Parts: sequence; structure tokens; C-alpha cells
Amino acid sequence: MKQFDFLVVGGGSGGIAAARRAASHGARVALFENKKLGGTCVNAGCVPKKIFWNASRIAETLHDAGDYGFTVAGGSFDWRALKSKRDAYIKRLNAIYRDGLGASGVHTVAAGAAFVDARTITAGGEDYGAPHILIASGGRPLVPQVPGAELGITSDGFFALEEMPRRAAVIGAGYIATEFAGVLSALGAEVTQVLRKEKILREFDHDLGALVTAEMKNAGTAIATQSRPTALEKIGGKIKVHTAAGGLGEFDCVIWAVGRRPNSGGLQLHNAGLTADRHGCIGVDKFQNTAVAGVYAVGDVTGRKPLTPVAIAAGRKLADRVFGGHDGARLDYANIPTVVFSHPPIGTVGMSEHEARAKFGDRVRVYQNQFTDLYFAPAGRKPRTLVKLITLGFDEKIIGCHIAGRAADEIIQGFAVAVQMGARKRDLDNTVAIHPTAGEELVTLR
Ligand code: FAD
Ligand code: NDP
Repeated sequence: MKQFDFLVVGGGSGGIAAARRAASHGARVALFENKKLGGTCVNAGCVPKKIFWNASRIAETLHDAGDYGFTVAGGSFDWRALKSKRDAYIKRLNAIYRDGLGASGVHTVAAGAAFVDARTITAGGEDYGAPHILIASGGRPLVPQVPGAELGITSDGFFALEEMPRRAAVIGAGYIATEFAGVLSALGAEVTQVLRKEKILREFDHDLGALVTAEMKNAGTAIATQSRPTALEKIGGKIKVHTAAGGLGEFDCVIWAVGRRPNSGGLQLHNAGLTADRHGCIGVDKFQNTAVAGVYAVGDVTGRKPLTPVAIAAGRKLADRVFGGHDGARLDYANIPTVVFSHPPIGTVGMSEHEARAKFGDRVRVYQNQFTDLYFAPAGRKPRTLVKLITLGFDEKIIGCHIAGRAADEIIQGFAVAVQMGARKRDLDNTVAIHPTAGEELVTLR
């Protein structure tokens, strides 16, 4: 049996970060990956998504160009050409990850891993032992069990598409559905986003989802509410979406974006004395310890805040604690900022108004403003921007900061620092505005 200090199952965001950090502390590390290095984010998540989101923003800019005095001829979009450049970039990233792991001294094993016991992993026909094992096996798209579900694709299938679907149904109300619906619509597809309930992005401050819904509709996306899909049916070359509320029409492509489930089924967890919950999530305490000493989990497989920087930060903190002598190092899951790359984008950190009011009642004060970004002054379309602060108590500590609108994706990171540092409303009031920007609206709220 090959002996190491640290075995890492999964070469995605969390696994790679933890493995390299542990190796930097002198640990002998082996990492197992059965697909492509980089995991979901690099291969079928953040990276390919952001490239197509950038393309959709260029389409919008081209649309506005005439209002800014440009004559833009033609302006057709070649999906296949962009996909091919995107795939080439991702291939480069896969190699960069492989080289980075090698340079850090991490031994990479290209095989699926499973537990033999709580100190032993088997992969590719060999056994590997270590006193510390990290599960960072991520997640996969969920497909509901309805008749014809297999006629739809998931986010993985979306990134494999060689042509842009002309008419698409995107089923779901969360990050992925809202992002994909916006991208496809801005690139020229006819899109229906299919919600089983009434609203998109219900987990966020409700004003954010409301603004994005209104702007998506203005831009031509149809939003079918109270329409829980009950079946997909092939009719000729098209797919019909049946819902509890009736038929929704026929589409070239139907995309399931209804959540994700952890990759824990193939790990033989029972051999390590571990169990997953009914969704497959592996429970951890605040130090990422599982119920078995010496076995840890980070990232999507834990079901907690499934975001790339969260998996990375949790993995690094764990490695610092176990191998770097940083006793007590752990990721604080409060105030994690996030962006939905919708149209327009959302940037948010901290509590929503409804969460804050439910927890703190009338100690909460809300400041907000809606406006049209100066960018749209000469333009025909007039999307709105919303900025909103949630404060708590007498000294008005900022417990929530939310933006929906142009550039929200870039503005929120700086405000997240302020919130993390415990900024009060007066700190924002005492910050001189930068004019003319959208961000200044957050330091001039009254
Ligand atoms: P992963 O990155 O999924 O890595 C897990 C790895 O483990 C995989 O490579 C898998 O092949 C491997 N594995 C699984 N089982 C085994 C096994 N038995 N043996 C060996 N290897 C195994 N997050 C953001 O922060 N920003 C975004 O913009 C964003 N966009 C996204 C868009 C989409 C469409 C999706 C699907 C996700 C997006 N995310 C985004 C979420 C982000 O991708 C995940 O939170 C992140 O990748 C989780 O990292 P992880 O290390 O937990 O898992
Ligand atoms: P989400 O959990 O964000 O949203 C899925 C939503 O789909 C549910 O909340 C639910 O909303 C709806 N839904 C569930 N089942 C059904 C059904 N049968 N029919 C119709 N709708 C259904 O999951 P995603 O798959 O969008 O994304 C997974 C995770 O990946 C995200 O939570 C996020 O952490 C991460 N991610 C991050 C991104 C970013 O950082 N920009 C981008 C993409 C993903 P409701 O209950 O309202 O019906």
C-alpha cells in the first residue's frame, strides 16, 4: 500500500486548493480525480458559463451601439466558434491545474476513489493509506423523475451544445436557470423560464428577483409561473413540456436546472463508518470534520453554500489547521458574497430583508433606491438598478447589501469587505462617492 499524509478525493475547486495548501505545509499528498482536473467550476460551471455570459453582454452592447452613434453591420453570433475557443481555454486550464499540482508536489491519480476503511482509499486497483482523508467529490445536476425527463438536458448538456437552440425552455428558479435563460435570450433565442412556483431566486432578497424578473420580461424572456413540469414528450423534432397547469408548447431544447446533488454514492462511505443524508450530503462540523475522526469534507458534497470560493476557502483553512499548525482555522460561513450572472446581474452579501425582519423585527432599518444607470441615458432600453442596505440596531450595522443592475457583479466584492469588517451605515455615509457610477448610490442612500 502507498502511504501518504493526506488523501484528497476530487480534483475540483475544494480538493485542489486543500491538496496544494497541505503540500505547501510539507504534507505528502495524493489527489484522486476520475474526470477532468478543475472539477465543475472549470469544466461545466463558472468558467464556461462566464464566457457565454460575456458573449451575451456583448450582444446587449451591440444592441445599444446604435444609440451611442455607432453603425454596426450584421452582427450575427457564431455559437460554435465561441464554444470551440472556450473549450480550448478550458483544456489549457486543465493542463495548468495538472502542472500546478505537480509543481506543488501533489501526487495525482487519474481514477475514481472509494473508501476501504477510514484510513485507506482504493483507486485504479491500488490502495493508498493516510491518517487524514478529505472528501471533495462535488455534485452533479439533478433530473426530476417525470416521464420523458431524459429528453431534457442539464447544465452539463448545455455546455456540450454545438448549436444555439432557437427555442428553449429552461426549467428551474435558481442560479443556473436564471443565468441560462438570460444568456440564451440575449444571444437571440426564444426562451421560456419555467417555474413551479411564483418567483425566481426566492432564497435572495425578494426585491432582487422581482427586478430581474421585470427586466427579463422586458428583454423578451417568457416566464411561466406555477408550472411544475410533469412530463416531457417528443413530438416530431420538438419537445413538449407538460406542466401541472397544462402544456407549455414545443421547444428545440429543454434544460433542467432544478438543483444539484452531491457525488457521494460511489465512495463506499460505509467502509469508513460514514453515512450521507437523504440527499447524499456528507455532514460536517464547523471545522469540516465528518463524524469519523481524520475524515473531512469540503465543498458541494457537504451541501453548504455550493460556490467555488467557498470550497476553496474551506479546503485551505482545513489544510492550514491540520498540516500548518493553525489551530482553530476554519471558514466562517456568514457573510459569503455571491453573484448571480443574470440579466441584469445580482450582487449580494448578508441577510435579505425578510430574513432580517424575521430574526430582528423592528430593529431592522432598510435603505433602498432604484434608478436607471447613466449608461442607458442615450439608449432605447431603460433597465433599472436596485441598491439596498439592511441595517441592524441603534448603530445601524450593515447586515445586508444587495444590488441588482448593471455592474452589480463587480461592485459587490468591495462592499462585501465592508460588511465582513462590520461596517456601520455611517461608514458608508462618510465615504466619498465616485461619480458618475452605480456604486456611488450605496454610499449616498438616505
Ligand atoms: P467540484 O468542483 O464538482 O469537484 C469535484 C470533483 O470530484 C469532480 O471533478 C469529480 O469528477 C470528482 N469526483 C467525484 N467523485 C469522485 C471519486 N469517487 N473519485 C475521484 N474523483 C471524484 N460557483 C461560483 O462560485 N460562481 C459561479 O459563477 C458558478 N457558476 C456555476 C455554474 C454552473 C452551471 C454550475 C453547475 C456550478 C456553478 N458554480 C459556481 C458552483 C461551483 O462550480 C461549485 O460550487 C464548485 O465547483 C464546487 O467545488 P467542489 O470542489 O466541491 O466540487
Ligand atoms: P438552485 O438550488 O439555485 O435552484 C434550483 C431551483 O429550482 C430550486 O430552488 C427550485 O426553486 C427549483 N426547482 C426544484 N425542483 C424543481 C422542479 N421539479 N421543477 C421546477 N423547478 C424546480 O440550483 P441550481 O441548479 O440553479 O444551482 C445549484 C447551485 O450551484 C446553486 O445553488 C449555486 O450555489 C451554484 N451556482 C452558483 C452560481 C453562481 O455563483 N453564479 C451559478 C450557478 C450555480 P423553487 O423552490 O422556487 O421552485
